[in-house]
Amino acid sequence: MSLLDIQDVSVTYPRRGWRKPPFQALHQVSLDVREGETVGLVGESGSGKSTLGRAVLGLAPVSGGKILFDGRDLAQASTQERRKLASRIQVVFQDPYSSLSPSLTVGETLAEPLRVRNVRRSDANARIAEALDLVRLPFDAIQRLPREFSGGQRQRIAIARALVLEPRLIVCDEPVSALDLTTQSLVLQLFLEVQERTGVSYLFISHDLSVVRVMSHRVAVMRGGKILESGTAGEVTSNPRHPYTQQLLLAAPVADPALQSARRAAYFQSLNTRQAAGEMV
Ligand code: ADP
Ligand code: MG
Repeated sequence: MSLLDIQDVSVTYPRRGWRKPPFQALHQVSLDVREGETVGLVGESGSGKSTLGRAVLGLAPVSGGKILFDGRDLAQASTQERRKLASRIQVVFQDPYSSLSPSLTVGETLAEPLRVRNVRRSDANARIAEALDLVRLPFDAIQRLPREFSGGQRQRIAIARALVLEPRLIVCDEPVSALDLTTQSLVLQLFLEVQERTGVSYLFISHDLSVVRVMSHRVAVMRGGKILESGTAGEVTSNPRHPYTQQLLLAAPVADPALQSARRAAYFQSLNTRQAAGEMV
């Protein structure tokens, strides 16, 4: 059974203003994500990727279809059950500058979601320590403010905040698009490593096919609120059926899909070597 099962989901945004018709941003989109799997969602700006992510998070006006999480329809669940299920779905956004509250220390930022869910203080502290360890930040980071960290480190804090609730799925919406290339690859490595260690699934959204290719087991290509094609990362990137995917592929820096698994392995190897050398990566 899929962890996340999106079935024929449509989203229609109401529009304000005189005579503006509502805008249908998603047209009967179906997609599933299995336990421990990364499904990449790629497409140009405005194709509906973030809308699909928001629908999964319960933040978009879904006008048709169903979203099942662990076999349960979130829309049909009781408030209590929905709250419980929803805490297992977390999100990491693009911009680590605006997504962290500047006046809260890292410790307060990580404690907040736990406090809201009445997690006991001693459990909360253990989870915060574990989350910081997963993102390779030292424990004493809890005393510091976001402005004392670089963009890449802030994104690690945002990832740690998503991890304290022990999610089974993280919606990653362009999580490295605001970072420079070197930092991008470190943060991507971190996502891979967190998945290895926790078994979390990702719905990984990016306009950049080269990013999605490295990260994903399966890839879905979106355009105009529809999924044009989907398949394993290898299938979609080595043998795209749709001309639009071929275009995306041409725009992506590395065109050899056979590199994907080799790259994943290489990422881990370099990460392990650097960590063994005591480097904070
Ligand atoms: P992407 O993440 O692929 O760039 P989005 O999901 O953000 O695309 O947007 C898809 C389409 O829906 C765009 O045409 C966008 O203008 C429109 N849209 C997004 N959010 C809203 C909203 N709150 N109200 C009206 N239209 C929206
Ligand atoms: Mg978007």
